[in-house]
Amino acid sequence: MSNPGFETICAHYGEDPERFHGAVAPPLFQNSLFALPDAETFLDQAGRGKGRYVYTRVSNPTTDILETKLAVLEKGEMARCFGSGDAAAAAAIFYAVKTGDHVVAVDTAYGPTRQILSEYLQKFKIEVTYVRGNEISDFEAAIRPNTRLFYLESPSSLIFHIQDLREITRLAKEHGILTVIDNSYSTPYFQNPIELGVDLVMHTATKYLGGHSDLVGGVVVGKAEHMMSLRDNEGTLLGGILDPFAAWLMLRGLRTLPVRMDRHQSSCLRIAEYLESHPMVSVVHHPGLESHPQHKLACSQMRGTNGLVSFEFKDGKRSTAVKFVDSLQYYHIAVSWGGYESLAIPIRFPTGAIQLTDPSDYRWGSRLHIGLETPEDLLNDLDQAFKKAAT
Ligand SMILES: *Cc1c(COP(=O)(O)O)cnc(C)c1O
Repeated sequence: MSNPGFETICAHYGEDPERFHGAVAPPLFQNSLFALPDAETFLDQAGRGKGRYVYTRVSNPTTDILETKLAVLEKGEMARCFGSGDAAAAAAIFYAVKTGDHVVAVDTAYGPTRQILSEYLQKFKIEVTYVRGNEISDFEAAIRPNTRLFYLESPSSLIFHIQDLREITRLAKEHGILTVIDNSYSTPYFQNPIELGVDLVMHTATKYLGGHSDLVGGVVVGKAEHMMSLRDNEGTLLGGILDPFAAWLMLRGLRTLPVRMDRHQSSCLRIAEYLESHPMVSVVHHPGLESHPQHKLACSQMRGTNGLVSFEFKDGKRSTAVKFVDSLQYYHIAVSWGGYESLAIPIRFPTGAIQLTDPSDYRWGSRLHIGLETPEDLLNDLDQAFKKAAT
């Protein structure tokens, strides 16, 4: 069977039931170490076991199946799973840079990742320049002789800024700069950055890859030339690996990733269109809407959009956003996203291009994650919450 499709890879790739007594769902190897048959094998195999499992921080059969699948889904050669998305981002960044290097990162990157870049990396005298990233000239202008890494996140997860991955990676290659992208928004189902020229792709698996809000994990995927070193150093040596049980849960989550993403997409687009037509709403942020300023670019490098949408209230008031979110029935008030359940949080949007600290320069709105509930229930719930927020 050559070139299986995405759904078939999720269901079968990397699995061989014959290895495990015919078990259709691969078993969970929840053990830290693996016994060897005799002393000679031990002496031969200690350290990096050749074809044998030795110690779970190095490798584990359950995690191996997951990494094999994720590498193929993301069009890379190798994948390494981590205990969280943050650990995966840190691994990719630490692999890319050394003391004295310079990083260019998009200013809409995930908050804790920004903290790694601008606070933690100071220990190693690594400087970071943040750019808006919507224009290739943003990156061109920020390059220094010691720039080693472009850190991207496209789309971002609050206002969905998009970077032109083909153009940016072409520029990076001209200057010998490594590119890393946080592809969590799209999952490999909707976007494959490696095909567009990106070197390393990271995901938080806590969101859609897990998909059930019951695990914390992350993954980095790339070519073997990068991943061999990243696997052994930032993976095995720093040791922030994924627990086998979380790997097992993620394998389970992956089986339904394509059908979940299709439903997140269709429900969320319906809701984004509803929001756009609502008299209390001024702006809706969603890259699948034609009104999104980068909609064309989104269509040129992504195959779909996820369950996230954010919008601003016309009156811009904090009290409206709070009342709206508090009035929702089916949406939990919670951080994160990517699970089966719908979520809502009040957020504030800077009104100018520059991020000002004065709260009066913000306009309040909300970010929603549209889950897998009945779309009509989610729409009706929003409708009654808008009515309450209007009073
Ligand atoms: C949640 C998130 C992360 C961090 O992942 P954890 O699994 O929580 O460590 C990174 N990037 C994005 C875009 C996220 O939403």
